[in-house]
Amino acid sequence: MFLKRVKARNYEERAKGKLPYIILLHYTGMETMEEAKERLSEPENEVSAHYLIDEDGTVYDLVPEDKRAWHAGVSYWKRESDINSVSIGIEIVNPGHEFGYCAFPEEQIYAVKCLCQEIQSRHDIKYVLGHSDVAPERKVDPGELMDWQYLTYEGVGVLPDLIPEDYEKARELARNDFEAKKMFDAFGYNPMAAHIDVVTAFQRHYYPQVFLKGEEGKSGEACEETMARLVALVRQSKK
Ligand SMILES: [Zn+2]
Repeated sequence: MFLKRVKARNYEERAKGKLPYIILLHYTGMETMEEAKERLSEPENEVSAHYLIDEDGTVYDLVPEDKRAWHAGVSYWKRESDINSVSIGIEIVNPGHEFGYCAFPEEQIYAVKCLCQEIQSRHDIKYVLGHSDVAPERKVDPGELMDWQYLTYEGVGVLPDLIPEDYEKARELARNDFEAKKMFDAFGYNPMAAHIDVVTAFQRHYYPQVFLKGEEGKSGEACEETMARLVALVRQSKK
């Protein structure tokens, strides 16, 4: 992994007693890498991230891991709303949905994997999430093209490992909005966020086929397949 250090000054101390247990993935959503680097390291911009990963896999080290960078904004995961204090933020260069969302190059995703593995060796990381998971009403990054499957295979993050019982449970949940919502809340999503946005964010991460092929299910709809994946994840998290 090729690491370059760029001194950013837009960060502060983490809230007292808080340590990073989330790795939060983003895309830059800007037209060029230079633009993104400038935005993330200039002190007058109130945004930053610990790392920035270029399309060729170069990793820019912007903010020390023990500091609080400003990448999550108003967000929430599992009863915690100061996500910046409990996470390490990685910005991945990609134009994003606004400027021509495209697949993440192999070199880049390999660098994401290596960096996450290193972070996991240094900290007790419990969740590897997308920005959209912690801010489902505002954000869609890193989006449905993120290769979570490869990352999970390499020990970074968790994806559903489905068994037949999950589908049995999912059949009931797909007909019961109230119980379905409770399960999304229990998994970690913000209970105050609109249900349709939570379901969509969940699908972007755990059921991206909804966006990639279209015909398999509908985005924002807590269908049987969507619920089965959630049931599996909740079951796996209890192990
Ligand atoms: Zn983001």
